[in-house]
Amino acid sequence: MGGNEPKLDVDEILAGIRAWVEIESPTQDAAAVNRMADAVQAEYAALGAAVERIAGRDGFGDHLLVTSPWGGDGPGILVLSHMDTVHDVGTLAGPLPFRVEGDIAYGPGIYDMKGGAYLALAAMRHLRRLGRETALPIRHLFVSEEEVGSPTSREVIEREAKRAKYVLVTEPAREGGKVVTARKGVGRFELKLIGRPAHSGARHQDGRSALKELARQILDLEAMTDYARGVTVNVGLAGGGSRANVVAAEAFAEIDMRVPNPEIGDEMVAKVLALKAYDPDVKLVISGGMNRPGYEKSAEIEALFQTARGVAAGIGFELNDLKTGGGSDGNFTASLAPTLDGLGVDGKAAHTHDEQLYVSSIVPRAKLMLGLWEALS
Ligand SMILES: [Zn+2]
Repeated sequence: MGGNEPKLDVDEILAGIRAWVEIESPTQDAAAVNRMADAVQAEYAALGAAVERIAGRDGFGDHLLVTSPWGGDGPGILVLSHMDTVHDVGTLAGPLPFRVEGDIAYGPGIYDMKGGAYLALAAMRHLRRLGRETALPIRHLFVSEEEVGSPTSREVIEREAKRAKYVLVTEPAREGGKVVTARKGVGRFELKLIGRPAHSGARHQDGRSALKELARQILDLEAMTDYARGVTVNVGLAGGGSRANVVAAEAFAEIDMRVPNPEIGDEMVAKVLALKAYDPDVKLVISGGMNRPGYEKSAEIEALFQTARGVAAGIGFELNDLKTGGGSDGNFTASLAPTLDGLGVDGKAAHTHDEQLYVSSIVPRAKLMLGLWEALS
């Protein structure tokens, strides 16, 4: 102890975050995400942590499972992060260069969630420098495709959550540093419509417009939104047809649904899958269902939140929680182990060209992660 004890250093951590932000890693570009994985792997290996690289599949990048050099094989703390972002390669050189202006650092994925993921690495590095260990082993899982719903990592996430005592998710903090203790369930559907083409001038009456049918279906789908029950149904993408002078033979829509709990989820999935065509000559093909189950605040999650609140009070700030409509990998783990989400950096404007973190949140949030690790047993 004494004056020479290493401290969590904001400049060092921000430099590390910057290095990760400058490796652009859009979900759909597996090679780019793998370059990010290379950097994470190297940095953790340098701390003496074991890093297992899980090969990507279906066109996605690799996942990484980092295990702390201490703590053994028993139940531990699972830290959950994603390496992918929604920003295409070139965003950094174009609309969203890394830069720091006062308390704000900008960059693609800096808030969602390279900043938060890096806090956990900084916490482990700090423990190594201090020569300290936590009672429970720390396992830090980095997945490559969270932004598209974790289709290839879900099984790894669930396997690791089942052998964890606690799950800490490094998604961004919200609304002035709040953590997340509940999330809505997320459903995804694809709707395809097959009509009958015809010349729009000569044989219009022979056609069966898939687009006309789609227009009615969109209104019905959107009408399923019920804010009072916490249900939203959003037709976010749609299209069809081939030319203005042809009756549209085909059309499609992609639908996002949010629900507060599994019961309402089942009810709404059944409703969407039961859609019927108004025009008997147009065929509807609907596929999809719940992608992420609802994440409900259990008594164990409340207890974990209270532990985090106590840690934050010791650091010198008040920690509050909220429920959000946005899904995360925490939705997969909340029913398997007590899960606390939103432990990443504070900031705003995720997924936009204004994405930013608050530099002043870096050290307190790193301390919160570290303090939680040390408080949990
Ligand atoms: Zn995220």
